[in-house]
Amino acid sequence: MRNTIQQNYSLAAEGARASELEAVQAAVELATAARDLTQNELKPGVIDRDRDMTHPTEQVKLMGEMGFMGIMTDPKYGGTGMDTLSYVIALEEISKVDNSCSVIMSAHNSLVCWGLEKYGNEEIKEKYLPQLASGEMIGGFCLSEPEAGSDATSQQTTAEDKGDYYLVNGTKNWITNGKKAGAYVVIAQTDREAGHRGINALLIDASTEGVSTGIKEDKLGIRSSDTSSVMFSDVKVPKSHRLGPEGFGFKYAMKTLDGGRIGIAAQALGIAAGSYELALAYSHERKTFGKPINKHQAIAFKLADMAMEVEAARMMVYRAAWLKDQGKEYATAAAMAKLFASEVAMKSSIEAVQVHGGYGYVKEYHVERLMRDAKITQIYEGTSEIQRLVIARAVTKGDVYLPID
Ligand SMILES: Cc1cc2nc3c(=O)[nH]c(=O)nc-3n(C[C@H](O)[C@H](O)[C@H](O)COP(=O)(O)OP(=O)(O)OC[C@H]3O[C@@H](n4cnc5c(N)ncnc54)[C@H](O)[C@@H]3O)c2cc1C
Repeated sequence: MRNTIQQNYSLAAEGARASELEAVQAAVELATAARDLTQNELKPGVIDRDRDMTHPTEQVKLMGEMGFMGIMTDPKYGGTGMDTLSYVIALEEISKVDNSCSVIMSAHNSLVCWGLEKYGNEEIKEKYLPQLASGEMIGGFCLSEPEAGSDATSQQTTAEDKGDYYLVNGTKNWITNGKKAGAYVVIAQTDREAGHRGINALLIDASTEGVSTGIKEDKLGIRSSDTSSVMFSDVKVPKSHRLGPEGFGFKYAMKTLDGGRIGIAAQALGIAAGSYELALAYSHERKTFGKPINKHQAIAFKLADMAMEVEAARMMVYRAAWLKDQGKEYATAAAMAKLFASEVAMKSSIEAVQVHGGYGYVKEYHVERLMRDAKITQIYEGTSEIQRLVIARAVTKGDVYLPID
Protein backbone atom coordinates (compact mmCIF):
# COMPACT_ATOMS: atom_id res chain seq x y z
CA MET A 1 0.00 0.00 0.00
CA ARG A 2 2.81 2.37 0.93
CA ASN A 3 4.42 1.83 -2.44
CA THR A 4 1.16 2.43 -4.27
CA ILE A 5 0.56 5.70 -2.48
CA GLN A 6 4.16 6.74 -2.97
CA GLN A 7 4.13 5.83 -6.64
CA ASN A 8 0.87 7.61 -7.35
CA TYR A 9 1.80 10.60 -5.37
CA SER A 10 5.19 11.06 -6.93
CA LEU A 11 3.50 10.87 -10.32
CA ALA A 12 1.24 13.73 -9.33
CA ALA A 13 4.09 15.63 -7.72
CA GLU A 14 5.99 15.84 -10.96
CA GLY A 15 4.48 19.28 -11.21
CA ALA A 16 4.07 20.62 -14.71
CA ARG A 17 4.06 17.15 -16.23
CA ALA A 18 1.33 15.86 -14.00
CA SER A 19 -2.19 16.79 -14.89
CA GLU A 20 -4.47 18.19 -12.24
CA LEU A 21 -6.54 15.07 -12.63
CA GLU A 22 -3.61 12.89 -11.62
CA ALA A 23 -3.07 15.03 -8.53
CA VAL A 24 -6.73 14.71 -7.59
CA GLN A 25 -6.62 10.96 -8.22
CA ALA A 26 -3.57 10.65 -5.99
CA ALA A 27 -5.29 12.60 -3.22
CA VAL A 28 -8.41 10.44 -3.53
CA GLU A 29 -6.26 7.32 -3.41
CA LEU A 30 -4.50 8.54 -0.29
CA ALA A 31 -7.80 9.45 1.42
CA THR A 32 -9.22 6.05 0.46
CA ALA A 33 -6.20 4.23 1.85
CA ALA A 34 -6.41 6.23 5.09
CA ARG A 35 -10.17 5.63 5.31
CA ASP A 36 -9.76 1.88 4.75
CA LEU A 37 -7.13 1.71 7.47
CA THR A 38 -9.33 3.74 9.80
CA GLN A 39 -12.53 1.79 9.21
CA ASN A 40 -10.96 -1.67 9.10
CA GLU A 41 -8.18 -1.41 11.65
CA LEU A 42 -8.71 1.58 13.93
CA LYS A 43 -12.47 1.62 14.39
CA PRO A 44 -12.80 -1.92 15.80
CA GLY A 45 -11.79 -1.63 19.45
CA VAL A 46 -11.67 2.17 19.55
CA ILE A 47 -14.42 2.35 22.20
CA ASP A 48 -12.67 -0.17 24.45
CA ARG A 49 -9.25 1.46 24.03
CA ASP A 50 -10.76 4.82 24.91
CA ARG A 51 -12.54 3.45 27.99
CA ASP A 52 -9.53 1.47 29.24
CA MET A 53 -6.87 4.00 28.18
CA THR A 54 -5.14 1.24 26.21
CA HIS A 55 -2.37 2.49 23.97
CA PRO A 56 -3.06 1.75 20.26
CA THR A 57 0.32 0.08 19.81
CA GLU A 58 -0.77 -2.35 17.08
CA GLN A 59 -2.68 0.37 15.24
CA VAL A 60 0.33 2.70 15.28
CA LYS A 61 2.43 -0.16 13.91
CA LEU A 62 0.00 -0.46 10.98
CA MET A 63 0.13 3.29 10.46
CA GLY A 64 3.90 2.91 10.27
CA GLU A 65 3.57 0.15 7.68
CA MET A 66 1.31 2.43 5.62
CA GLY A 67 4.02 5.09 5.64
CA PHE A 68 2.04 7.48 7.84
CA MET A 69 4.61 7.75 10.63
CA GLY A 70 7.14 9.32 8.29
CA ILE A 71 4.68 10.76 5.83
CA MET A 72 6.62 13.98 5.14
CA THR A 73 10.08 12.54 5.75
CA ASP A 74 12.45 12.24 2.80
CA PRO A 75 12.57 8.67 1.39
CA LYS A 76 16.36 8.84 1.75
CA TYR A 77 15.74 8.57 5.53
CA GLY A 78 13.06 5.90 5.10
CA GLY A 79 10.13 8.29 4.91
CA THR A 80 7.22 8.43 2.47
CA GLY A 81 8.21 11.82 1.07
CA MET A 82 4.74 13.27 0.75
CA ASP A 83 3.78 16.89 1.22
CA THR A 84 1.83 18.67 3.96
CA LEU A 85 -1.39 18.51 1.97
CA SER A 86 -1.16 14.71 1.88
CA TYR A 87 -0.40 14.71 5.60
CA VAL A 88 -3.61 16.61 6.39
CA ILE A 89 -5.69 14.43 4.06
CA ALA A 90 -4.54 11.32 5.93
CA LEU A 91 -4.93 12.95 9.34
CA GLU A 92 -8.49 14.07 8.59
CA GLU A 93 -9.54 10.50 7.81
CA ILE A 94 -7.90 9.02 10.90
CA SER A 95 -9.35 11.78 13.11
CA LYS A 96 -12.88 10.96 12.03
CA VAL A 97 -12.54 7.88 14.22
CA ASP A 98 -9.46 7.62 16.42
CA ASN A 99 -7.96 10.82 17.74
CA SER A 100 -5.51 9.02 19.98
CA CYS A 101 -3.94 7.60 16.82
CA SER A 102 -4.08 10.97 15.08
CA VAL A 103 -2.41 12.90 17.90
CA ILE A 104 0.33 10.28 18.08
CA MET A 105 0.86 10.66 14.32
CA SER A 106 0.67 14.45 14.42
CA ALA A 107 3.08 15.13 17.30
CA HIS A 108 5.49 12.51 15.94
CA ASN A 109 5.52 13.83 12.36
CA SER A 110 5.21 17.59 12.89
CA LEU A 111 7.19 18.20 16.03
CA VAL A 112 9.84 15.49 15.89
CA CYS A 113 10.44 14.04 12.38
CA TRP A 114 10.00 17.32 10.50
CA GLY A 115 12.20 19.33 12.90
CA LEU A 116 14.87 16.65 13.10
CA GLU A 117 15.10 16.44 9.32
CA LYS A 118 15.22 20.22 8.92
CA TYR A 119 17.55 21.15 11.77
CA GLY A 120 19.47 17.99 12.75
CA ASN A 121 22.95 17.09 11.55
CA GLU A 122 23.51 14.20 9.17
CA GLU A 123 24.76 11.84 11.89
CA ILE A 124 21.62 11.99 14.05
CA LYS A 125 19.31 12.10 11.05
CA GLU A 126 20.80 8.87 9.75
CA LYS A 127 20.64 7.27 13.17
CA TYR A 128 17.11 8.27 14.23
CA LEU A 129 14.99 9.19 11.20
CA PRO A 130 14.69 5.71 9.63
CA GLN A 131 13.47 4.26 12.93
CA LEU A 132 11.07 7.15 13.46
CA ALA A 133 9.78 7.25 9.89
CA SER A 134 8.91 3.54 9.94
CA GLY A 135 7.03 3.93 13.22
CA GLU A 136 9.37 1.45 14.89
CA MET A 137 10.33 4.29 17.24
CA ILE A 138 7.90 7.00 18.37
CA GLY A 139 9.00 10.56 19.01
CA GLY A 140 7.95 12.96 21.77
CA PHE A 141 8.22 16.75 21.86
CA CYS A 142 8.99 18.23 25.28
CA LEU A 143 8.28 21.94 25.56
CA SER A 144 5.58 22.36 28.25
CA GLU A 145 6.50 22.40 31.92
CA PRO A 146 4.51 22.71 35.15
CA GLU A 147 5.11 26.49 35.02
CA ALA A 148 5.57 26.96 31.27
CA GLY A 149 2.59 26.28 29.00
CA SER A 150 1.37 29.23 26.97
CA ASP A 151 4.36 31.19 28.23
CA ALA A 152 6.92 28.85 26.70
CA THR A 153 9.80 31.28 27.28
CA SER A 154 9.82 30.67 31.04
CA GLN A 155 11.67 27.37 30.74
CA GLN A 156 12.96 25.90 34.02
CA THR A 157 14.57 22.85 32.41
CA THR A 158 18.27 23.52 32.03
CA ALA A 159 20.86 22.27 29.55
CA GLU A 160 24.13 23.27 31.13
CA ASP A 161 27.03 23.58 28.69
CA LYS A 162 29.76 21.19 29.87
CA GLY A 163 32.11 21.49 26.91
CA ASP A 164 31.43 18.48 24.73
CA TYR A 165 28.00 17.73 26.21
CA TYR A 166 24.94 19.36 27.83
CA LEU A 167 23.80 18.33 31.29
CA VAL A 168 20.00 18.36 31.28
CA ASN A 169 17.83 18.69 34.40
CA GLY A 170 14.12 19.40 34.69
CA THR A 171 10.56 18.16 34.28
CA LYS A 172 8.35 18.37 31.21
CA ASN A 173 4.58 18.11 31.49
CA TRP A 174 1.79 16.75 29.31
CA ILE A 175 4.07 15.05 26.81
CA THR A 176 2.23 13.21 24.02
CA ASN A 177 3.93 9.81 23.51
CA GLY A 178 5.63 10.49 26.87
CA LYS A 179 5.95 6.88 28.02
CA LYS A 180 6.16 5.24 24.59
CA ALA A 181 8.70 7.50 22.91
CA GLY A 182 12.15 6.20 22.01
CA ALA A 183 13.47 9.73 21.50
CA TYR A 184 12.45 13.19 22.63
CA VAL A 185 13.10 16.65 21.31
CA VAL A 186 13.65 18.60 24.53
CA ILE A 187 13.59 22.37 24.82
CA ALA A 188 15.86 23.61 27.62
CA GLN A 189 17.55 26.78 28.85
CA THR A 190 21.33 26.97 28.50
CA ASP A 191 22.02 30.68 29.00
CA ARG A 192 19.44 32.31 31.26
CA GLU A 193 20.74 35.83 30.66
CA ALA A 194 20.19 35.45 26.93
CA GLY A 195 16.46 34.83 27.57
CA HIS A 196 14.70 33.00 24.75
CA ARG A 197 17.90 33.25 22.68
CA GLY A 198 19.64 31.10 25.29
CA ILE A 199 17.33 28.09 24.77
CA ASN A 200 18.41 24.90 22.95
CA ALA A 201 16.52 22.04 21.31
CA LEU A 202 18.15 18.67 22.01
CA LEU A 203 17.39 15.20 20.74
CA ILE A 204 17.51 12.89 23.75
CA ASP A 205 17.34 9.12 23.48
CA ALA A 206 14.79 7.79 25.96
CA SER A 207 17.25 5.07 27.00
CA THR A 208 19.79 7.63 28.28
CA GLU A 209 20.58 7.37 31.99
CA GLY A 210 18.57 9.86 34.04
CA VAL A 211 15.47 9.92 31.82
CA SER A 212 12.22 8.79 33.50
CA THR A 213 8.48 9.24 33.01
CA GLY A 214 5.46 9.89 35.23
CA ILE A 215 2.05 8.20 35.21
CA LYS A 216 -0.16 8.10 32.11
CA GLU A 217 -2.65 10.96 32.49
CA ASP A 218 -6.34 10.03 32.84
CA LYS A 219 -7.87 12.43 30.32
CA LEU A 220 -11.29 13.66 29.12
CA GLY A 221 -10.58 12.66 25.52
CA ILE A 222 -7.84 11.13 23.33
CA ARG A 223 -7.71 8.73 26.25
CA SER A 224 -5.74 5.89 24.75
CA SER A 225 -2.92 8.18 23.65
CA ASP A 226 -0.10 8.30 26.09
CA THR A 227 0.37 11.65 27.86
CA SER A 228 2.80 11.89 30.75
CA SER A 229 5.49 13.93 32.43
CA VAL A 230 9.07 13.27 31.39
CA MET A 231 11.84 13.90 33.90
CA PHE A 232 15.53 14.55 33.21
CA SER A 233 18.02 14.14 36.03
CA ASP A 234 21.67 14.84 35.19
CA VAL A 235 21.17 13.58 31.64
CA LYS A 236 24.30 13.87 29.50
CA VAL A 237 23.49 14.87 25.92
CA PRO A 238 26.23 15.02 23.27
CA LYS A 239 26.59 18.38 21.55
CA SER A 240 25.92 16.66 18.23
CA HIS A 241 22.33 16.11 19.41
CA ARG A 242 21.57 19.83 19.36
CA LEU A 243 19.06 20.78 16.63
CA GLY A 244 20.09 23.97 14.89
CA PRO A 245 22.73 26.40 16.09
CA GLU A 246 23.37 27.32 19.73
CA GLY A 247 20.40 29.28 21.11
CA PHE A 248 18.01 28.15 18.35
CA GLY A 249 15.75 26.08 20.65
CA PHE A 250 12.92 28.56 21.09
CA LYS A 251 12.82 29.17 17.36
CA TYR A 252 12.83 25.39 16.80
CA ALA A 253 9.76 25.16 19.03
CA MET A 254 7.94 28.02 17.30
CA LYS A 255 8.79 26.80 13.78
CA THR A 256 7.74 23.23 14.43
CA LEU A 257 4.58 24.39 16.23
CA ASP A 258 3.60 26.46 13.17
CA GLY A 259 3.54 23.20 11.20
CA GLY A 260 2.13 21.27 14.18
CA ARG A 261 -0.86 23.59 14.23
CA ILE A 262 -1.68 22.50 10.69
CA GLY A 263 -1.68 18.90 11.96
CA ILE A 264 -3.96 19.74 14.90
CA ALA A 265 -6.18 21.78 12.59
CA ALA A 266 -6.48 18.65 10.41
CA GLN A 267 -7.31 16.62 13.49
CA ALA A 268 -10.05 19.13 14.40
CA LEU A 269 -11.30 19.01 10.81
CA GLY A 270 -11.52 15.20 11.04
CA ILE A 271 -13.49 15.40 14.28
CA ALA A 272 -15.88 17.92 12.72
CA ALA A 273 -16.25 15.94 9.49
CA GLY A 274 -16.61 12.61 11.32
CA SER A 275 -19.30 14.08 13.57
CA TYR A 276 -21.14 15.46 10.56
CA GLU A 277 -20.97 12.16 8.66
CA LEU A 278 -22.30 10.19 11.63
CA ALA A 279 -25.08 12.71 12.25
CA LEU A 280 -26.09 12.72 8.59
CA ALA A 281 -26.23 8.92 8.38
CA TYR A 282 -28.22 8.68 11.60
CA SER A 283 -30.64 11.38 10.45
CA HIS A 284 -31.69 9.17 7.52
CA GLU A 285 -32.25 6.12 9.75
CA ARG A 286 -34.03 7.59 12.72
CA LYS A 287 -37.72 8.27 12.30
CA THR A 288 -39.92 10.40 14.55
CA PHE A 289 -43.50 11.47 13.92
CA GLY A 290 -43.57 9.19 10.90
CA LYS A 291 -40.57 10.57 8.99
CA PRO A 292 -36.76 10.58 9.04
CA ILE A 293 -35.53 13.24 11.46
CA ASN A 294 -33.75 15.09 8.64
CA LYS A 295 -37.18 15.90 7.24
CA HIS A 296 -37.69 18.07 10.33
CA GLN A 297 -36.29 21.46 9.43
CA ALA A 298 -34.62 21.93 12.83
CA ILE A 299 -32.42 18.89 12.16
CA ALA A 300 -31.93 19.63 8.45
CA PHE A 301 -30.65 23.13 9.31
CA LYS A 302 -28.20 21.73 11.84
CA LEU A 303 -26.86 19.43 9.10
CA ALA A 304 -26.67 22.35 6.67
CA ASP A 305 -24.61 24.41 9.14
CA MET A 306 -22.35 21.46 9.91
CA ALA A 307 -21.73 20.79 6.20
CA MET A 308 -20.94 24.44 5.53
CA GLU A 309 -18.60 24.83 8.50
CA VAL A 310 -16.74 21.58 7.80
CA GLU A 311 -16.18 22.74 4.23
CA ALA A 312 -14.92 26.15 5.37
CA ALA A 313 -12.56 24.51 7.89
CA ARG A 314 -11.29 22.13 5.20
CA MET A 315 -10.46 25.03 2.89
CA MET A 316 -8.52 26.79 5.64
CA VAL A 317 -6.59 23.67 6.61
CA TYR A 318 -5.75 22.82 3.00
CA ARG A 319 -4.68 26.40 2.37
CA ALA A 320 -2.31 26.49 5.35
CA ALA A 321 -0.83 23.16 4.18
CA TRP A 322 -0.53 24.42 0.61
CA LEU A 323 1.25 27.61 1.72
CA LYS A 324 3.76 25.51 3.65
CA ASP A 325 4.29 23.25 0.64
CA GLN A 326 4.86 26.28 -1.59
CA GLY A 327 7.56 27.57 0.76
CA LYS A 328 5.43 30.62 1.57
CA GLU A 329 4.77 32.19 4.97
CA TYR A 330 2.20 30.01 6.74
CA ALA A 331 2.32 30.79 10.48
CA THR A 332 -0.76 33.04 10.47
CA ALA A 333 -2.70 30.75 8.14
CA ALA A 334 -1.86 27.80 10.42
CA ALA A 335 -3.03 29.69 13.53
CA MET A 336 -6.25 30.69 11.74
CA ALA A 337 -6.88 27.15 10.53
CA LYS A 338 -6.33 25.68 14.00
CA LEU A 339 -8.48 28.26 15.75
CA PHE A 340 -11.33 27.96 13.26
CA ALA A 341 -11.24 24.19 12.78
CA SER A 342 -11.11 23.55 16.53
CA GLU A 343 -14.19 25.73 17.08
CA VAL A 344 -15.96 23.88 14.27
CA ALA A 345 -14.92 20.54 15.80
CA MET A 346 -16.42 21.53 19.13
CA LYS A 347 -19.65 22.81 17.59
CA SER A 348 -20.09 19.99 15.08
CA SER A 349 -19.48 17.25 17.66
CA ILE A 350 -21.96 18.80 20.13
CA GLU A 351 -24.57 19.03 17.36
CA ALA A 352 -23.88 15.42 16.33
CA VAL A 353 -24.71 14.30 19.87
CA GLN A 354 -27.90 16.40 19.71
CA VAL A 355 -28.94 14.87 16.37
CA HIS A 356 -28.51 11.40 17.92
CA GLY A 357 -30.70 12.32 20.90
CA GLY A 358 -30.27 9.86 23.79
CA TYR A 359 -28.25 7.50 21.58
CA GLY A 360 -25.64 10.22 21.19
CA TYR A 361 -25.03 10.15 24.90
CA VAL A 362 -23.76 6.56 24.96
CA LYS A 363 -20.44 5.24 23.71
CA GLU A 364 -21.78 2.83 21.10
CA TYR A 365 -22.65 5.61 18.64
CA HIS A 366 -19.14 7.20 18.68
CA VAL A 367 -20.25 10.84 18.74
CA GLU A 368 -19.81 11.37 22.48
CA ARG A 369 -16.16 10.34 22.09
CA LEU A 370 -15.67 12.82 19.26
CA MET A 371 -17.20 15.53 21.47
CA ARG A 372 -14.75 14.72 24.27
CA ASP A 373 -11.85 14.55 21.80
CA ALA A 374 -12.75 17.90 20.24
CA LYS A 375 -11.94 19.91 23.37
CA ILE A 376 -8.21 19.22 23.31
CA THR A 377 -7.85 20.79 19.86
CA GLN A 378 -8.63 24.15 21.52
CA ILE A 379 -5.87 23.61 24.08
CA TYR A 380 -2.71 21.92 22.84
CA GLU A 381 -0.08 23.35 20.49
CA GLY A 382 -1.28 26.79 21.60
CA THR A 383 -4.69 27.46 23.13
CA SER A 384 -7.36 29.33 21.17
CA GLU A 385 -6.45 32.45 23.13
CA ILE A 386 -2.81 32.09 22.01
CA GLN A 387 -3.89 31.56 18.37
CA ARG A 388 -5.85 34.83 18.61
CA LEU A 389 -2.71 36.52 19.96
CA VAL A 390 -0.66 35.18 17.03
CA ILE A 391 -3.25 36.31 14.49
CA ALA A 392 -3.80 39.70 16.19
CA ARG A 393 -0.05 40.33 16.24
CA ALA A 394 0.24 39.62 12.51
CA VAL A 395 -2.77 41.76 11.67
CA THR A 396 -1.86 44.76 13.86
CA LYS A 397 1.79 44.66 12.76
CA GLY A 398 0.46 45.65 9.37
CA ASP A 399 1.08 42.24 7.83
CA VAL A 400 -2.21 42.48 6.03
CA TYR A 401 -3.24 38.95 5.41
CA LEU A 402 -3.83 38.56 1.71
CA PRO A 403 -5.47 35.30 0.73
CA ILE A 404 -3.37 34.84 -2.42
CA ASP A 405 0.04 35.74 -0.99
C1 LIG B 1 -3.48 15.96 26.19
C2 LIG B 1 -2.38 16.96 26.11
C3 LIG B 1 -1.29 16.71 25.31
C4 LIG B 1 -0.23 17.63 25.24
N1 LIG B 1 0.89 17.32 24.50
C5 LIG B 1 1.98 18.12 24.61
C6 LIG B 1 3.24 17.73 24.03
O1 LIG B 1 3.36 16.70 23.36
N2 LIG B 1 4.31 18.52 24.22
C7 LIG B 1 4.25 19.68 24.94
O2 LIG B 1 5.26 20.35 25.09
N3 LIG B 1 3.06 20.08 25.50
C8 LIG B 1 1.95 19.33 25.36
N4 LIG B 1 0.77 19.72 25.94
C9 LIG B 1 0.71 20.98 26.69
C10 LIG B 1 -0.16 22.04 26.03
O3 LIG B 1 0.48 22.51 24.88
C11 LIG B 1 -0.44 23.13 27.07
O4 LIG B 1 -1.33 22.57 28.02
C12 LIG B 1 -0.99 24.38 26.46
O5 LIG B 1 -0.03 25.03 25.69
C13 LIG B 1 -1.53 25.36 27.54
O6 LIG B 1 -0.59 25.54 28.55
P1 LIG B 1 -1.07 25.41 30.08
O7 LIG B 1 -1.78 24.13 30.22
O8 LIG B 1 0.09 25.66 30.96
O9 LIG B 1 -2.14 26.58 30.28
P2 LIG B 1 -1.79 28.09 30.65
O10 LIG B 1 -0.71 28.62 29.82
O11 LIG B 1 -1.63 28.17 32.14
O12 LIG B 1 -3.16 28.82 30.27
C14 LIG B 1 -4.34 28.81 31.11
C15 LIG B 1 -5.39 29.66 30.42
O13 LIG B 1 -4.94 31.03 30.30
C16 LIG B 1 -4.96 31.44 28.94
N5 LIG B 1 -3.82 32.31 28.67
C17 LIG B 1 -2.53 32.10 29.00
N6 LIG B 1 -1.78 33.13 28.61
C18 LIG B 1 -2.60 34.01 27.97
C19 LIG B 1 -2.42 35.26 27.32
N7 LIG B 1 -1.23 35.82 27.19
N8 LIG B 1 -3.53 35.87 26.82
C20 LIG B 1 -4.76 35.31 26.90
N9 LIG B 1 -4.98 34.12 27.51
C21 LIG B 1 -3.93 33.48 28.03
C22 LIG B 1 -4.86 30.13 28.14
O14 LIG B 1 -5.38 30.30 26.84
C23 LIG B 1 -5.70 29.19 28.99
O15 LIG B 1 -7.07 29.41 28.72
C24 LIG B 1 -0.31 18.84 25.98
C25 LIG B 1 -1.44 19.09 26.77
C26 LIG B 1 -2.45 18.18 26.86
C27 LIG B 1 -3.63 18.46 27.77
